[in-house]
Amino acid sequence: MRIFDPHIHMTSRTTDDYERMAAAGVRAVVEPAFWLGQPRTGVGSFTDYFDSLIGWEPFRAGQFGVRHHATVALNPKEANDPRCRPVLDVLPRYLEKDGVVAVGEIGYDSMTPEEDDVFAAQLALAVAHDLPALVHTPHRDKARGVERSLAVVAESGVEPGRVVLDHLNEVTVELVRDTGCWLGFSIYPDTKMSPPRMVELLKAYGTERVLVNSAADWGRSDPLLTRATGEAMLLAGFTDDDLDRVLWRNPVEFYGQSGRLDLGDGDVPDATFAGNSILRGGS
Ligand SMILES: [Zn+2]
Repeated sequence: MRIFDPHIHMTSRTTDDYERMAAAGVRAVVEPAFWLGQPRTGVGSFTDYFDSLIGWEPFRAGQFGVRHHATVALNPKEANDPRCRPVLDVLPRYLEKDGVVAVGEIGYDSMTPEEDDVFAAQLALAVAHDLPALVHTPHRDKARGVERSLAVVAESGVEPGRVVLDHLNEVTVELVRDTGCWLGFSIYPDTKMSPPRMVELLKAYGTERVLVNSAADWGRSDPLLTRATGEAMLLAGFTDDDLDRVLWRNPVEFYGQSGRLDLGDGDVPDATFAGNSILRGGS
């Protein structure tokens, strides 16, 4: 089973996770820029974070044979903090970088007027930089959040096939399925979407334009839930080809629209990054 996790926050995960993921078949990931739990107070915290998403973290992933890409954006939650607004001015510089395969995570958290502005501005950046967009849908008031997100996407002029609406569930999938946008599902350990629920959705809606991710981060989450979903699909009678489509070819197709996916071919990565390795003891 080859797996591409299209949404996972590896900065918050350990080398044990990389080891287990690689053993489970995860060969590629996309790490979206997001909220770190602790509010940031200025643009410098973001640029250091973005730099690590396109520098140190791909290096770290490479040590385990995992290809790492990033999406870059001002996340919806911090869009509300005026101290973070200047992040919009530095984004164009990052959106030209090789390892950046989309604008994201953008969208709504609490659906404030500030979030409206920042969402629209970042969809315009996606158009200007010819990149796909990863849209986070809110965990509260989800249906209204998805409806409003779709309206903003339609207004932006971004082609729907270059947009994924993420964190969908049984209710919100209905709102997105006929829009031409991609359907993103995050599989969680004990709340919201689970592998068996995901299998039911795949039975009902098919495998086309579906992305399955673990969204693993600093909260309770599990980077192996992509694999668990693949196993649940097999038990439910899906073929190896169905699995490969959902867990590999679909994310390759979606993020491949950036023209920047680099899935390598067994090339050996450098052992150090800016003089640092992941070893301890003076190496
Ligand atoms: Zn996320």
